[in-house]
Amino acid sequence: MEECIFCKIIKGEIPSFKVYEDDNAFAFEDINPISQGHTLVIPKRHTQDLWEIPEEDLAAVHSASKKIIQAIKDVLNPTGVACLQLNGRGVNQVVMHYHLHLIPRASGEPELPVSSWELKQGDMEAIKQTAEKIAAAIG
Ligand SMILES: [Zn+2]
Repeated sequence: MEECIFCKIIKGEIPSFKVYEDDNAFAFEDINPISQGHTLVIPKRHTQDLWEIPEEDLAAVHSASKKIIQAIKDVLNPTGVACLQLNGRGVNQVVMHYHLHLIPRASGEPELPVSSWELKQGDMEAIKQTAEKIAAAIG
């Protein structure tokens, strides 16, 4: 899977705003964020989707997401956090490496779109700062 962009991010071949890493899971800020703190949690071992992911990796991703969502709550004080996980091109899965979106909604922000949104690069410095805050808040 040498062409997989997420595998390249895990290896450090493509830079990312990492917020968390353990033996089996990796998390970083989405650079096309729906909202501030939009984070992706992925298994380190390449697997395409929920149909293919080994249970061990699924558990690792979701255990990591619980730590990260607590940090997001502590740092950003959202009114809620959507956990969105898309399987297949029919629902706009773009990168074919399993990933769980954690999408916070801040007070006063509009409703979150569910599975289709315009990709618009965010402010890289702001994303970096948010990544650093979340990373630092993970115990
Ligand atoms: Zn991959």
